[in-house]
Amino acid sequence: MNRNRSAELFKRAKELIPGGVNSPVRAAKSVDSDPLFIQKGQGCYIWDVDGHRYIDYVCSWGPLILGHAHPVVLEAIKEAIQNGTSFGAPTELEVEMAEMIVEMIPSVEMVRMVNSGTEATMSAIRLARAYTGRQKIVKFDGCYHGHSDSLLVAAGSGVATFGIPGSPGIPEDVAKHTISLPYNDLNSVEVVFDKIGEQVAAVIVEPIAGNMGVVLPKEGFLKGLRDITERYGALLIFDEVITGFRVSSGGAQELFGIQPDLTCLGKIIGGGFPVGAYGGKNEIMKHISPEGSVYQAGTLSGNPVAMMAGIATLRVLKDRSVYQDLERKGRILFEGIERKAKEKGVSVTVNKIGSMGSVFFTDQKVVDFESVKKSDADKFKRFYKEMLLSGIYLAPSPFEAIFVSYVHTDEALEYTIEAAGRAFEVL
Ligand SMILES: *Cc1c(COP(=O)(O)O)cnc(C)c1O
Repeated sequence: MNRNRSAELFKRAKELIPGGVNSPVRAAKSVDSDPLFIQKGQGCYIWDVDGHRYIDYVCSWGPLILGHAHPVVLEAIKEAIQNGTSFGAPTELEVEMAEMIVEMIPSVEMVRMVNSGTEATMSAIRLARAYTGRQKIVKFDGCYHGHSDSLLVAAGSGVATFGIPGSPGIPEDVAKHTISLPYNDLNSVEVVFDKIGEQVAAVIVEPIAGNMGVVLPKEGFLKGLRDITERYGALLIFDEVITGFRVSSGGAQELFGIQPDLTCLGKIIGGGFPVGAYGGKNEIMKHISPEGSVYQAGTLSGNPVAMMAGIATLRVLKDRSVYQDLERKGRILFEGIERKAKEKGVSVTVNKIGSMGSVFFTDQKVVDFESVKKSDADKFKRFYKEMLLSGIYLAPSPFEAIFVSYVHTDEALEYTIEAAGRAFEVL
């Protein structure tokens, strides 16, 4: 397959941008590949600059639940942009966005818009520390919460991909306040709280992990976190940057019926624009400046064009039948891939929930970062390359989710399953 134009752009990019990319996982290093430069997207398809078409299962790493260039979203953006692109003053759209989030996400009574998921989690941590007057944070191995200093410890996603334990540049004095425990291991949480529970400001968790591939919470894990944090006066933060509006219109908290104290959002709420948000109980959120003293700000926060794209997306997602269809599509795809693997005698464990899932090359259950790492990276690499040759665009790392959008057609899903069958055959 001729990828000359991508290769040429990558060569130029590497001279100018660290690693040639503006976010590490895009570089496709862990699958021994070079990135494709993308020209355009439409529905569930993207085209690279060499003119090849792919069925896209990255969907901008989650945000594009309505696929590329959805007409409803495009119309909304066009309308917004006519009136100017930024004011640094309040707009009606921000109120509308806040109303939608508060209405849809069960535990959120008040919300602050920011520009990325990283900002959302970083700010939620600051708020939790201020509110409790404590410093320690508990997180889980393989969960990624953006790249702020406190949270880049045993993180998943790109950090997992490159096997970096944290990152140079993070002061030990900061990192020492973050305790990272095995996902799904409630006992280790009990042990830590037994020792230093009174020092813990918050437990932050991806209620469904999506940055070490998809790992589901075991029955009772999230409930257990809720109980323990309550008992010790620590806050429970759900990082729903992926799961918010993905697994249901009320996120994982609605699905599992657990109310966290704070919720971080991002990805889908921006409708393809750079957006994040954090919210929760009034009583906690009112500590944010200017109502309270916890400072957090943003020149472009609540940007009207981004708000409009997000609002347009959420309007579509308010219709719960969308989630039934996403569920159906996810089932077709992931069960289809599982079936093909069995037929071809390849051991896989497919973790899935609704429209997100992962294929791990192992015959063991995948329940935490340890078991994720047992999956055969070399097999994934070959699978990735075969799928790409068949015109299927997967995230270029075994530690990422496959995202199905509302506009993936049954035909595209069936084609993908056939392609997976061919790929399994040559593994
Ligand atoms: C993507 C992601 C983030 C970071 O969001 P950015 O917008 O990339 O900064 C945080 N938490 C989770 C769970 C994510 O998946």
